[in-house]
Amino acid sequence: MKNARQAIDKLVAQCAICGISHRSIQTTIINNTNDTELIHIRCGACKGSIVALIFNTGKNISSIGVITDLSEKDIMKMKNNKSITHDELMQLHQELTNKNICEAILNNY
Ligand SMILES: [Zn+2]
Repeated sequence: MKNARQAIDKLVAQCAICGISHRSIQTTIINNTNDTELIHIRCGACKGSIVALIFNTGKNISSIGVITDLSEKDIMKMKNNKSITHDELMQLHQELTNKNICEAILNNY
């Protein structure tokens, strides 16, 4: 994404978790398209991490960030995973509402 550098520089000016200056902050670009950039930000001081999505709204560049315990390697692995379908989620819900599911799991270990 063009013009994302300024948004990234603003995001990493200081750690959002501990407030330390940018010297200890490492950024990794996870994904980059014409309109979005997904980055992993890791603070060397507090070891905290944030995943941020920077996106071009047309006139402006905006960002959303969430604190995570995922490493950049975890996110790289997960980004190509298949999404969970509605049917799979409903099946899981039905399995979890089955009162014997815990017993069945425990019996398999
Ligand atoms: Zn920090």
